[in-house]
Amino acid sequence: MKRILLVSCVWLFLFSCKKASNTSPETLPDSYSNQAIGKSASDLLSATKYTALQIQIQYMGAYQLDTATISNLSAYLNSICNKPGGITITQTPIAATSDTLNLSKVAMLEKQYRTAYTSGTTLAVYIMVTDGFDTSASILGFAYRNTSICLFGKDIFANSGTSGGLSRVSLESNVLEHEFGHLLGLVNLGTPMITAHQDTPHGNHCTNTHCLMYWAIQTRTGLPGISNYIPKLDSNCLADLTANGGK
Ligand SMILES: [Zn+2]
Ligand SMILES: [Zn+2]
Repeated sequence: MKRILLVSCVWLFLFSCKKASNTSPETLPDSYSNQAIGKSASDLLSATKYTALQIQIQYMGAYQLDTATISNLSAYLNSICNKPGGITITQTPIAATSDTLNLSKVAMLEKQYRTAYTSGTTLAVYIMVTDGFDTSASILGFAYRNTSICLFGKDIFANSGTSGGLSRVSLESNVLEHEFGHLLGLVNLGTPMITAHQDTPHGNHCTNTHCLMYWAIQTRTGLPGISNYIPKLDSNCLADLTANGGK
């Protein structure tokens, strides 16, 4: 009789960074917001065309982002983006779906509920937090257009807040800041690299395992002290953003 050794490998959860171009998601009423991920990188970073940033977050069910996550996002963007007119973040509920969601369903819901669009000198970004799982269990969120991000709130809750793992605020902040990094054109996704640091086998990610833009996130180590850890952008990623109009 064979002996089977079961090894638990639950400590890496993957970010997915789908490119929206293949599946042509629903067309939004505002042509600016229908572009590919990274196309607004310099607009988000510099004040040349847009001096203010409006972020509309809509959540389903119990998956409202924690106020500490909103504060973390605000501090992150204020440290990177030149927006003298300010960065405004709002969060409101939308109807729950409890459904399995894929890119096209998320894009359809965005079209139904999103009300914030780029206008004048204010650039708008949309973030949806769902109560449904992605079709792939290992995906916690994705950016899918130049100003569109989806977070799988239920998955984030399910993979945080346990002993030896990340707190919910840390995991939410990590996924949100990572996906926003793609909207800012990282890595080599609309913001040119100053020094080569793209982890090409994993798409538009950073080779530095400690960088926010690394392709995977460590949600459990069993070690003390991890619960409040949120990776930061490394010097290569920051240099790219600065050269493309960021602070
Ligand atoms: Zn990514
Ligand atoms: Zn990096």
